[in-house]
Amino acid sequence: MSSLDYTDLRSMTRAELEEALSGLGAQKYRAGQVFSQLHAHPVRDIADMTLLPSSLREKLSAHYRLSSPVIETRQVSAIDGTEKYLYRMQDGEYIESVLMRYHYGNSVCISSQAGCRMGCSFCASTIGGLTRNLLPGEMLAQVYGIAEATGERVSHVVVMGTGEPLDNYDNLLRFIRLISDENGMNLSRRNITVSTCGLVPQMRRLAEEDLPITLALSLHAPNDEKRRSIMPVARRYDIASLMDACRYYYEKTGRRITFEYSLIRGVNDLEEDARELSALARGVKAHINLIPVNPVRETGYEESAAPRIEAFKTRLEKSGVNVSIRRVLGRDIDGACGQLRHKYGKEKIQENG
Ligand code: SAH
Repeated sequence: MSSLDYTDLRSMTRAELEEALSGLGAQKYRAGQVFSQLHAHPVRDIADMTLLPSSLREKLSAHYRLSSPVIETRQVSAIDGTEKYLYRMQDGEYIESVLMRYHYGNSVCISSQAGCRMGCSFCASTIGGLTRNLLPGEMLAQVYGIAEATGERVSHVVVMGTGEPLDNYDNLLRFIRLISDENGMNLSRRNITVSTCGLVPQMRRLAEEDLPITLALSLHAPNDEKRRSIMPVARRYDIASLMDACRYYYEKTGRRITFEYSLIRGVNDLEEDARELSALARGVKAHINLIPVNPVRETGYEESAAPRIEAFKTRLEKSGVNVSIRRVLGRDIDGACGQLRHKYGKEKIQENG
């Protein structure tokens, strides 16, 4: 993709900014100032780039734009302080992001697409299908906006909101490089987690990017038959090829894979499921995150009962697998995994109309 495909300044690399600015007749050092005002002390508008002379700001505005999703609503969970943000983008699309406070720092869960086309049967984000990919700048702005709104440092980012990040691969990679740039927000790459429903070619490609990020695989079932019954993507890539891709990722990066496993009552929470799952996890040295499935009205799935979850966990531990049960945060604000959806704007109008 050539640099000229990005007219959004916040999505551009430092080299592209230099090229753009020299095209406008500006001196080279201006690129550093622009980069800093986009990523280290992010402004909302080109007009707010006060380090630049107004003539240059005008030229920039004439040729480029700046993605700055606006916070439309901010909901705070009364249970655990988790915050859910609804952002409106320039074209009227809406996306959601979530802030979670942990003992190790603040973690922001961002969306990578408006909607999703993966079709997992338990997930709300997929209900309206995919509207469009998010630009790198729109992913960045979700993090910057929350840091600004709270006045608190964001130390971790998880790409686990709406969308399939590896279905928006090039923009995701730019996002990772830009957010970890030492002249920008300088977020540690080790504190970035990308979650995928399992797009094998892109997982292998990601392994070769030389990035020490964590890859989480949404497995959710221990064999192909069960996986195909809840995740359409499983018809494209079977578990054997997924496990090969996981091994490859570990070999290349030295980073352990996380398996995400949402426990759905009577569907994937049986004793035999735990046995099959432990064999898979041992095969690729994966860590398992068990998540009681979050209820989404349209899906009809129920979470497993607490004793079942405990028994499932114990079974895995006994076979030597590293496992944790993910605390469910922000349930009262529909902020938990799989509950994000855009029910505003265009979608809403269509629903009502
Ligand atoms: N598309 C990516 C990232 C977004 S989903 C992926 O599939 O990984 C983030 C995580 O939430 C995934 O593990 C997904 O399977 C899980 N999830 C979706 N709906 C859920 C629900 N109702 N309950 C629990 N987890 C859910």
